[in-house]
Amino acid sequence: AKQRGDNGFAYYSHEMNQRSLDRLKIEAGLRKALEQGELLLHYQPKLELESGRVVGAEALVRWQHPDRGMVPPGEFIPVAEESGLIVRIGDWVLEAACIQARCWLDADMPVMRVAVNLSARQFTPGLAGKVRDLLNRHQLPAAWLELEITESMLMHSAEEVITMMDELVGLGVSLSLDDFGTGYSSLSYLKRFPIETLKIDRSFIEGTPGDSDDCAITSTIISMAKQLKHRVIAEGVETADQVAFLKTLGCEEIQGYIFSPPLSAGKFEALMRESPTF
Ligand code: C2E
Ligand code: CA
Ligand code: CA
Ligand code: CA
Repeated sequence: AKQRGDNGFAYYSHEMNQRSLDRLKIEAGLRKALEQGELLLHYQPKLELESGRVVGAEALVRWQHPDRGMVPPGEFIPVAEESGLIVRIGDWVLEAACIQARCWLDADMPVMRVAVNLSARQFTPGLAGKVRDLLNRHQLPAAWLELEITESMLMHSAEEVITMMDELVGLGVSLSLDDFGTGYSSLSYLKRFPIETLKIDRSFIEGTPGDSDDCAITSTIISMAKQLKHRVIAEGVETADQVAFLKTLGCEEIQGYIFSPPLSAGKFEALMRESPTF
């Protein structure tokens, strides 16, 4: 880096400025998005492998930008996390998912659960109260709501985290551990936290059944999940070979493009009407 001289340095700092400008723009845009209702949720079905039935849906936030079109979460969630806006976005996502779930319940749609992704910054002592109020306000049975959390949330002040999780589970909400296997995984977490479901990260599923390391990791996670009485779901399932492999291991649920990408609520409902089984 020292060899780069003035031009190299100028270029570098220009790029830094550009990056922070982009971030500021996204941040400002996100504030406006919240106010003007530019956020929406898409839903990706979760399937039970044995029956081939849709048993739930994961809500994934989308930003319908007036000029840029659909902005993927990978572009704005990190900015939202850094700026703290993720808390307001997360509140919006939770409420929108509860409203949608209530609609599906009223329409007798055979989806039993809607999962919402939580950011570590939402995982604060007020969360259970917030969730309880939402469930009450929308008259949604708690069993309809699942919260996907990540291992990074489990690392600090374990006692406080366990208390918060116990409060949520006490309401009847279920917890799943997202991107499992990618975090700083001390397996003792699994014993100490009231987590119902392990979600095997797509990066492992991707290599199955061809890559022997990915197969070993996937099969180990599934057998451990079973022994510890967790439900297990594989994310990012794209091929029939992956499905066959996961079936032989007794993986309970799958989610991925093999059945459906995330869909708008309307398209999700159409799918449930027209081809609700795998
Ligand atoms: P995630 O929670 O791991 O969500 C799964 C991602 O994998 C989604 O990307 C989904 O569209 C994608 N996916 C699903 N099936 C397949 C497949 O078969 N193949 C491939 N290649 N990809 C598949 P998406 O919607 O772009 O979301 C990216 C990430 O953004 C999510 O990863 C999650 O970490 C974050 N995110 C999305 N919505 C929210 C939200 O409401 N709150 C928070 N805090 N984070 C969110
Ligand atoms: Ca997730
Ligand atoms: Ca995931
Ligand atoms: Ca993932």
